[in-house]
Amino acid sequence: MDQNHSPEEQSGFRKPFKSFATEAIHVGQEPEQWKSMAVVPPISLSTTFKQHGPGNHAGFEYSRSGNPTRNCLEKAVAALDGAKYCLALASGLAATVTITHLLKAGEGIICMDDVYGGTNRYFQRIATELGLDVSFADCTKPKLLKAALKANTKLVWIETPSNPMMKVVDIQACADLVHEHNKDIVVVVDNTFMSAYFQRPLALGADICMYSATKYMNGHSDVVMGLVSVNRDDLYERLKFLQNALGGVPSPFDCFLCNRGLKTLHLRMERHFKNALAAAKFLEANPRVERVIFPGLPSHPQYELMKRQCTGCPGMITFNIKGKLEHASTFLRSLKLFAIAESLGGYESLAEHPAIMTHASVPEKERKELGISDTLIRLSVGLEDEADIIEDLQQALAAAHPEMD
Ligand SMILES: *Cc1c(COP(=O)(O)O)cnc(C)c1O
Repeated sequence: MDQNHSPEEQSGFRKPFKSFATEAIHVGQEPEQWKSMAVVPPISLSTTFKQHGPGNHAGFEYSRSGNPTRNCLEKAVAALDGAKYCLALASGLAATVTITHLLKAGEGIICMDDVYGGTNRYFQRIATELGLDVSFADCTKPKLLKAALKANTKLVWIETPSNPMMKVVDIQACADLVHEHNKDIVVVVDNTFMSAYFQRPLALGADICMYSATKYMNGHSDVVMGLVSVNRDDLYERLKFLQNALGGVPSPFDCFLCNRGLKTLHLRMERHFKNALAAAKFLEANPRVERVIFPGLPSHPQYELMKRQCTGCPGMITFNIKGKLEHASTFLRSLKLFAIAESLGGYESLAEHPAIMTHASVPEKERKELGISDTLIRLSVGLEDEADIIEDLQQALAAAHPEMD
């Protein structure tokens, strides 16, 4: 029996990556690397490591430059991304900043127009101040990305599906056209929403796959971390140098937790997919709901691309409730199981109002253009029982629109 993707709708996607679960559990975790033969990697808190003689050490010198617990995590993530190398950083944004330091003043970044608010803020308000030439393009239309490429373009930043509008970018098409223009342009994909289990950007032509591991990769809402995977030796050497020189490294304790979270990534993602698909179908059929945006539903405009590019769909659903702000607000306040909170990708279900919460820093005009309206609600569907999730959505929708009973 196929171990995954049981329901009918989940089966149209690409097959899960070979040996994913086995690698998540074993790569980088070899007991033989420790004198104690510990099966679970120890948390190595020492900041410094004794040398046999000056410059003659066993692979570790100082914990910013390299740490045994961090090593285990980086090896595991590299395997899960089908990559040669991975680097762990202190947060998703620390990863973004470190990657951006590949550029010099005067060089250019083209960024997908609908990206994580913090990425947008960093590029627009900090990177530009340092002399980088930042512009935005709707990468769901590869032609627009092509038109945006300039002689100084050095980095292309893609996020798919985008947040919160769930626009899906064809990674292969974008990477191919960018590299045809200039093979030295670095194509980055922010893979946070998908996790390594559902999407492999490097196999689709991207040069760098990055994550906010704070979300699905750790998956337990108790670690802030970033991850960067690459295949190219030159990129790895430079990023490794930057990781150490800029200093945005994660703590050994957080590395331990994230490494542990990866052991159940495949199980969690399958369940997020199943629960979210059920919730999205329920919402789509409900008369109190105007529109549902979930890339795992045939109604999503890029459903076919999603199936071709990904092995499944995470627990993120965006929808418009009928009515006005007060209806969205009553819905959110009436939820009992879902917590009103920012962030996503943990085992617990969360709901939020992008216009007031996560995307408040996006100027109102841009919010309007992107479709981030007062009735827009974003869900991160967790791992609870499907029936309880749907019951909670149902009673909160009923509370928001009692007149429709
Ligand atoms: C949260 C998030 C980030 C930023 O990561 P932090 O770990 O919060 O610094 C970047 N991209 C996406 C898509 C995110 O959701």
